[in-house]
Amino acid sequence: MSNLYSQFKIDTSTENFCLTLEKELLETWGSIDKIMHINGAKVLHAMQKNKLSDTHFAATTGYGYNDLGREVVEQIYADVFKTEAGLVRPQLISGTHALTVALFGNLRPGDELLSPVGKPYDTLEGVIGIRPTNGSLKEYGITYKQVDLNPDFSFNYDGIREAITDKTKLITIQRSKGYSYRPTLTIAQIKELITFIKAIKSDVICMVDNCYGEFVDVMEPTEVGADLCVGSLIKNPGGGLAPIGGYIVGKEEYVENAAMRLTAPGLGKEVGATLGLTQPVLQGLFLAPEVVANALKGAVFAAAIFEKLGFEVMPRAYELRSDIIQAINMKSPENVIAFCEGIQKGAPVDSFVNPEPWDMPGYDSPVIMAAGAFIQGASIELSADAPIKPPYTVFFQGGLTFYHARLGIMKALQTMKDKGLVTL
Ligand SMILES: *Cc1c(COP(=O)(O)O)cnc(C)c1O
Repeated sequence: MSNLYSQFKIDTSTENFCLTLEKELLETWGSIDKIMHINGAKVLHAMQKNKLSDTHFAATTGYGYNDLGREVVEQIYADVFKTEAGLVRPQLISGTHALTVALFGNLRPGDELLSPVGKPYDTLEGVIGIRPTNGSLKEYGITYKQVDLNPDFSFNYDGIREAITDKTKLITIQRSKGYSYRPTLTIAQIKELITFIKAIKSDVICMVDNCYGEFVDVMEPTEVGADLCVGSLIKNPGGGLAPIGGYIVGKEEYVENAAMRLTAPGLGKEVGATLGLTQPVLQGLFLAPEVVANALKGAVFAAAIFEKLGFEVMPRAYELRSDIIQAINMKSPENVIAFCEGIQKGAPVDSFVNPEPWDMPGYDSPVIMAAGAFIQGASIELSADAPIKPPYTVFFQGGLTFYHARLGIMKALQTMKDKGLVTL
């Protein structure tokens, strides 16, 4: 047992198993790096184009009138996503909140919302009113329709055509698998879907929930027809440094509608102090292309290991990726729990605590979450979550650095091995 791994109680057989497999992944690292270089250049160019300067990092307080840093952040985001406008705020407290603001800002009573890609992310069930919830869109007379993917995960085009009516105002497309066991949509698939929808109804608003997808590909959904794109700053685009925040980018009119809802009708984007967060938000964006590449390498590493051990993984190690999430079908709750315990043991923060399943607000079954993050709940940091329900899929993501993702995964495997759940 080498000293490096023995200090983490990772034994020689785990070490050899993982490191032998890693040798086969070098070519994949190359393709991930290529995407990183393209996205890095995109971000750097947007910062230069907007003449980002030290003075933009000054903190504003109170109403936050004339916050030049805030305006530059929003223009940089708009340029990176190639859109007319952006709303990037610490007052958007999470991805769910950013999506909520985009939806409530752009839908009116009598309108209908459509998801053509099946059930949206769990927390949106309350927002939409799929699960009866106080304050949902449904309570405001906004109806919802959903067209599931076909059993082979392709789009149900006939169903979508039938579902679009005069009432359909906004179409929400979730790029990432979220907590569903289905493939993440690629940019090419999103393009195909939006093109199909716009041919049926050109003025419908196509919104993409881009959570976990930023910088995984060389293009973003707004470059292939999305009118709005929404995400969280404690995931990919915050690069691990943004301590809070969400973004909404897209057509000026729709971003403006969202801003009126976030602050107040008539105030919109003109207010909202940034409290000194402009600097970490932008430094995080600057690092994000590389952080996302590191997380992707961790995901590929995990996929290769667990696939080799006979577990079903999605995506497979060498498959094209469109988000940073690695789903592993763990077959039993014991495997799920041991994997998450191992990820926790590999964390820089709270490595000594043991994660346990609990009933989290917004979720319909107990969820176990392993995260030893510098920023609470930041899932761009190495983390694993799993709803404790069949088929016992663990959703694993993040890793600000590849060295950490690699060690965390090895520790997760070691924990399963120590409990006699796997043999190498
Ligand atoms: C994380 C996530 C959300 C919600 O984001 P929170 O920041 O956790 O509220 C929405 N959709 C998808 C696909 C996500 O991955």
